Amino acid sequence: MPPQASHNPHAPCPCGSTKTLQECCLDFIQRKRNAPTAEALMRSRYSAHSLVAVDYLWDTWSAEQRLRSNKNDIRAWAESCDWLGLQILATQQGGEQDDTGIVEFVAIYRQQGQLRQHHEISRFTKSLGKWFYVDHADE
Ligand SMILES: [Zn+2]
Repeated sequence: MPPQASHNPHAPCPCGSTKTLQECCLDFIQRKRNAPTAEALMRSRYSAHSLVAVDYLWDTWSAEQRLRSNKNDIRAWAESCDWLGLQILATQQGGEQDDTGIVEFVAIYRQQGQLRQHHEISRFTKSLGKWFYVDHADE
């Protein structure tokens, strides 16, 4: 079992923002407030993988995505990887005044000893003031 990122709120945020976890993604993951932008949601979902915050990952998935998976699969995936870093490459819309957004990112992780990277163009939608992850734009 690889060492998981610390839940220490004063540790650097896993999303690589250079802020501490507490100043960055933790409030979103603990549902104290909603991520204001698609990028903030994307970053907090990455951090939630690192922290294996399965309920948060589930709750920020669109209803369509939930039909295709379950919490056990999310947990197994998050735990099987050692999350090494996130890079946001581009964003389109996804601002506080928008209802849809696109975030292109690369996540670096290690799985079964192999260094891997996941490049994705993700689509997000906002409903009742909350951002949700919809799917890959390139699917
Ligand atoms: Zn963060």
